[in-house]
Amino acid sequence: MEKETVIKIEKGYSSFAEEIKKDYGVFVADCYQCGKCTAGCPVACEADVSPSQAVRMVQLGMREDLLKAKSVWLCTGCETCATRCPNGVSPAKIFDACRQIGVKEDVPASVPETKIMHEEILRQVSWYGRTHELGMEMLYKFRTKHFKDDMFQGLRMMLGGKISILPGRIKRPSEVAKLIKKEKSE
Ligand code: SF4
Ligand code: SF4
Repeated sequence: MEKETVIKIEKGYSSFAEEIKKDYGVFVADCYQCGKCTAGCPVACEADVSPSQAVRMVQLGMREDLLKAKSVWLCTGCETCATRCPNGVSPAKIFDACRQIGVKEDVPASVPETKIMHEEILRQVSWYGRTHELGMEMLYKFRTKHFKDDMFQGLRMMLGGKISILPGRIKRPSEVAKLIKKEKSE
């Protein structure tokens, strides 16, 4: 027998939709579910919630379910969905909002590797004012234990001079670090 899925929805314009509109500037009521966003999304085939479904979940107030979705951490932020939307709705911003809310509220990331990559990029930017790919990759691998992944690609890039061994640094990286710290505390 097929398992029943129970969807709890709020009546009218949901409080989640209000939150997404007020704090992240996305007005989901304009979406009429044409699916153009999903048709252009490069990761929709791997996603558990497509961009158009994410908008619908916000309309219905399915906050908890969306925060836990794999798609929140699979979205690359390429903005194809937002560009294709005839009504100016941005599923990209919704997924970004869910990542931010998830981090603030300690919701475990459905794809922890992506969260670790975000943290390591920020760490590099705080230290040097820019990303040092080799350092970032080493810390990422240390934390995820994915030591062998992309090893040969990385070596090829190093030999081709695409990845430098020593980090480059901007003039005052501490200014950038301050900005990141301020943003995190808000
Ligand atoms: S393209 Fe825009 S209107 Fe169409 S489903 Fe996606 S968000 Fe909704
Ligand atoms: S921004 Fe995210 S949801 Fe939108 S098309 Fe790109 S990967 Fe898909």
